[in-house]
Amino acid sequence: MCEILVGLPTVTVLGIEDVVGEHLRVHVQSRASRPFCSGCGTAAVVKERPIVELVDLPTHGRASRLLWHKHRWNCPDERCVIGSWMGEDDKIAAARMSMTDRAGRWLTEQIGRYARSVNEVAIELGCDWHTVNDTLLAYGAALIDDDPDRYGTVTALGLDEVLFARTGPWHRQEFSTQIVDVNAGQLLDVVPGRSGGKPKEWLEAKGKQWRDNVRWATLDLSGPYRAVFDDKLPGATQVADPFHVVKLANAKLDECRRRVQNATLGHRGHKYDPLYRCRRLLTKADERLDENGRTKLLGLLRAGDPKNEVTTTWHAKEAIREIYTHTNTELALQFVERLSADMADADNPGEVRSLGRTLKRWKLQITAWHTAHVTNGPTEAVNNLIKRVKRAAFGFASFENYRIRSLLYAGKPNWALLATIRPR
Ligand SMILES: [Zn+2]
Repeated sequence: MCEILVGLPTVTVLGIEDVVGEHLRVHVQSRASRPFCSGCGTAAVVKERPIVELVDLPTHGRASRLLWHKHRWNCPDERCVIGSWMGEDDKIAAARMSMTDRAGRWLTEQIGRYARSVNEVAIELGCDWHTVNDTLLAYGAALIDDDPDRYGTVTALGLDEVLFARTGPWHRQEFSTQIVDVNAGQLLDVVPGRSGGKPKEWLEAKGKQWRDNVRWATLDLSGPYRAVFDDKLPGATQVADPFHVVKLANAKLDECRRRVQNATLGHRGHKYDPLYRCRRLLTKADERLDENGRTKLLGLLRAGDPKNEVTTTWHAKEAIREIYTHTNTELALQFVERLSADMADADNPGEVRSLGRTLKRWKLQITAWHTAHVTNGPTEAVNNLIKRVKRAAFGFASFENYRIRSLLYAGKPNWALLATIRPR
């Protein structure tokens, strides 16, 4: 009866220790028969019975430990070079793991699939953070990196930079690049940094045939990623993501507002300054402003923007949003060309001229969207998933940790394989 409850097919239960206030301790030994020496075929003899303590799944609501009375075997033939070896049983625990195999698989799904935190699971198992995390990495890496079929042909690929940690005494920002199947909304991989080097290596390793299938390559307005695509996916049409184009326009508008504020008031925004008060109204999409909001915004601009610089940049931002109301690529391109020429006008504030230069440099990628209609939307969705992982982890200290966790949650691993993978 006890063995049924313990639930491991290959063990004999030796006893159970039940001390109030402590974990339930279940003593077992392997039921495997006496082995023969792999060197000479002689029947082995027991040399030692070391006891290994493993973190196990909770039993009836109590944290549990499995105490595995192992066998260290010895070859009795003195002429044999094999000496001694430890009797292992993967069904109980993989070699060198400090957790049972079933607990390892269970926590990989809890954390990897359902985005529970390592800390929370460690509390449930009654063990420390590192034990859980090391186990998660061993099983998680196997599920991610040992499955050649996690993704197949990809026709639309996106690169996106993501902040994954702030490290060190100055909270230095650490960036990574995520590689996404834009159609499937699947995170393919994460590589360190936001330069082009690592994404290039990654694409190179995929082989030419795989790369040739990629027809669309989406990116933010980043020079390094553009160089990656020019070099590694020369046949793919590059598509600048609308989200990032509008985001850049809003960033320039913000920059202009702060500059004018400083120039007219001599300080940064205070609660009662007109430009500071309209900062949110400015970046809001025009069609989402109601009549009151609009009247308020125009009044604040009259009060705080004597040379109409913020107003001009606001109009520029709205014009950039209008790019995406076009349905025809040719007309959209003409519109972008006119827009960038208008913005280049020497009378415009510097922020607007800068936007004009960006539009000119990226006009083909921006209007490729009108043909492709692939966007980084799924990439943003993947980003939101990763944010959830990051919240659960309170930021990551190690890149490998971050990579495996992100891929388990947003990389669509084949969870059916969890029962059979071999931990790394
Ligand atoms: Zn031997």
